[in-house]
Amino acid sequence: MSRPGPWPNIPTSMDDDRRVVPPGGVIGIVGGGQLGRMAALAAAALGYRCHVFCPAEESPAVEVAHAATIGAYDDAGCIEAFASAVDVVTFEFENLPVASFRHMARHAPVRPHWHCLEMTQHRVSEKDFLAGQGCATAPYAALPGPGERLATTGSPAILKTARMGYDGKGQVRVTRQQDLEDAWVAMGGRDAILEGVVDFTMEVSSIVARDNHGAIRAFDVVQNTHRDGILAETRAPAPLPGDVADAAIAIAGRLAEALDLVGLLAVEMFVAPGNRLLVNELAARPHNSGHWTIDACRTSQFEQFIRAVAGLPLGDPSRHSDAVMTNLLGDDASSWRDILAEGDAKLHLYGKTRALPGRKMGHVTRLFPLE
Ligand code: AMP
Repeated sequence: MSRPGPWPNIPTSMDDDRRVVPPGGVIGIVGGGQLGRMAALAAAALGYRCHVFCPAEESPAVEVAHAATIGAYDDAGCIEAFASAVDVVTFEFENLPVASFRHMARHAPVRPHWHCLEMTQHRVSEKDFLAGQGCATAPYAALPGPGERLATTGSPAILKTARMGYDGKGQVRVTRQQDLEDAWVAMGGRDAILEGVVDFTMEVSSIVARDNHGAIRAFDVVQNTHRDGILAETRAPAPLPGDVADAAIAIAGRLAEALDLVGLLAVEMFVAPGNRLLVNELAARPHNSGHWTIDACRTSQFEQFIRAVAGLPLGDPSRHSDAVMTNLLGDDASSWRDILAEGDAKLHLYGKTRALPGRKMGHVTRLFPLE
């Protein structure tokens, strides 16, 4: 599949549909994972019913949904059945066929617009978009592409598949041109990106919501710690000077505006020496680094997401507690008894039956209430 773009050729006013889906309506969620599950739970609290479209019946989101369409994401019959049964369509992960959303848009508004999906599901398009918006990023080069790419990025660098990569999957660190060539051949010569390794002091993310009138609300900027490429822990707020946190929020807000996004935008950033912010990745959906908001904010990222896609006014995202969110990966979830015994710990399990190593089974948020 070729690279979408070029960016930033993003149509303006992509969703000039100001329609409101009032409580009682049906929100269509494409994707059956934990993000869909927690979004569906937040939707239910506001009186919505959720209809989930995903390939497997036994999915975290399907288990809490009002209805489900089970089938392949590119199955024309499923797309038709799903889209005609819902009042608005949204998605909970990126690796989905854009053509399916074009089709769904004939039946119901797609929020955020599928252009956001198309751009964020290809790492090179995403970086080109960011560069077009004047955001600093790691130095990068596209594969296939001209020239000695390591000369562009510097060494060491990380080779990442352009599509379908998540949680550090499909990534190889390289230091020499020959390693790069070998790693790329091992990846099957697919679309890829080479990124210079950033010397960072901290990883942070900013999550903003934007409604269909253009209003933007931001959650506090948080610090993220990854282990083996997977998010391990999120600290809220990030230990950053106020002006740096404000700058991170301003970047996220500006990008949401440039995309004319309706929903949530999560922006992962590296804090380089001198508190320089480099954007690493975008997600136009709820994000793992926003899970702490369920228990520590007046409006969670999931409620905010549902409000935005339904066309409701956004809620107050301010935090009432500091928080540390820890992902429960694989066997970590078996410590549920001990976590439940803690005072200010809130346990969330996703209902997954097989605890494979590195699999996100749940999370725990430890609260430190503000005075
Ligand atoms: P990603 O899938 O791109 O978010 O990468 C997962 C994690 O790998 C990031 O959160 C970083 O900890 C690390 N990483 C990715 N790209 C870079 C880079 N260019 N420089 C340094 N670390 C990186």
